[in-house]
Amino acid sequence: MIPFNKPFLTGKEAHYIYQAVYSGKLSGNGVFTKKCQKFFEEHYGFKKALMTTSCTDALEMAAILCDIRPGDEVIAPSYTFVSTVLAFVRQGAKIVFCDSCKENPNIDADRIEALITDKTKVIIPVHYAGVACDMDKIMDIANRHNLLVVEDAAQAIDSYYKGRPLGSIGHLGCFSFHETKNIIAGEGGLLTINDDRFIRRSEIIWEKGTNRSEFFRGEVNKYGWVDTGSSFLPSELISAFLWAQIENMDMIQTRRKEIWEQYYQGLKPMADKGYFQLPDIPEYATNNAHMFYIVCRTLEERTALIKHLKENEILSVFHYLSLHKSGFYTSHSDVRPDTCQGLETIQMKNFDGSVTDETQVVGLDLPNCDRFADCLLRLPLYYELTNEEVMKITKELNIFYSPNFIK
Ligand SMILES: *Cc1c(COP(=O)(O)O)cnc(C)c1O
Repeated sequence: MIPFNKPFLTGKEAHYIYQAVYSGKLSGNGVFTKKCQKFFEEHYGFKKALMTTSCTDALEMAAILCDIRPGDEVIAPSYTFVSTVLAFVRQGAKIVFCDSCKENPNIDADRIEALITDKTKVIIPVHYAGVACDMDKIMDIANRHNLLVVEDAAQAIDSYYKGRPLGSIGHLGCFSFHETKNIIAGEGGLLTINDDRFIRRSEIIWEKGTNRSEFFRGEVNKYGWVDTGSSFLPSELISAFLWAQIENMDMIQTRRKEIWEQYYQGLKPMADKGYFQLPDIPEYATNNAHMFYIVCRTLEERTALIKHLKENEILSVFHYLSLHKSGFYTSHSDVRPDTCQGLETIQMKNFDGSVTDETQVVGLDLPNCDRFADCLLRLPLYYELTNEEVMKITKELNIFYSPNFIK
């Protein structure tokens, strides 16, 4: 069976964890944490980088730093992972979902401005598959309306917008080192802070609401409770693992890009015939080979293709169910913005002739998002995937789309 994902180990992970274990410092903000953060700051030009235990946690920190309060509105794509909006919901925000572009699942920057009200505080672009959103447009809208931008760069390590590293453009950026991402630590994340206003507070929130970081640097002679916060910093073991991956990032990225290119060239003849769509990389964006996906013509065809691939020992997966149609979102009036949707009560006739009231969502039309939710299919992509395996997957797609194949 060709799995969908296989976490890649460079060979040095256990060695660095061993070093961390026997250094006598296991908790956070030690040698390996600092090495990782320094690498990210120097290599990508983030003003400050703080390791976190996940991207979800980095987003939690971002929601606190943006000072989100009940009633505030946040604009995000609906075609994304739950974590993108979860922390903002916890702070009491109403999420206003914006549709994806027609060509790719990123937020359609041309539709954002119409969703802004005097309660809007934050825009969260998600760089889907590591491909940049239209950041000039988004930053321009944010600046004109005095909004903050938090980049969900979970999939976007080592990817660029017009030469600028993703995660360095918005006020804050959030990365993931989950085992399904390009460089991994099991679970792990990074918050990047690009606006001076947030730098001091970010360290305090990171360290359980205390100014312990300043104390360790000798800037204050005692530390105490000064703000809200949580324990967002990971143990040294996580950063030790990640350090082995960082050291080999170029090698990992080179191989992932080769695999991506092989898929693209192999599948292009079929895409040219209109059987499916290949990933769209706008001119302003780079490809960090986080993901290879195709967009099928219909949900039924995608379901049949997944089945065909599985019967031939290939695991492919689809994702995201549109967040605006999720059970949580549609049932919680406190997270549902009135600006964006309403609920309508309709009378449902039962089999026995009786009538019950049923509530359904109306007025929320995100057609591009729904299309990607129904039709996008991810193919296996991981460091150890061989050329032969990519050829086998391409061959099975060819068989599936040949005119005499019975679906
Ligand atoms: C993976 C992912 C996350 C969550 O990352 P964790 O590190 O698992 O918390 C958030 N947003 C997007 C777009 C992701 O792909």
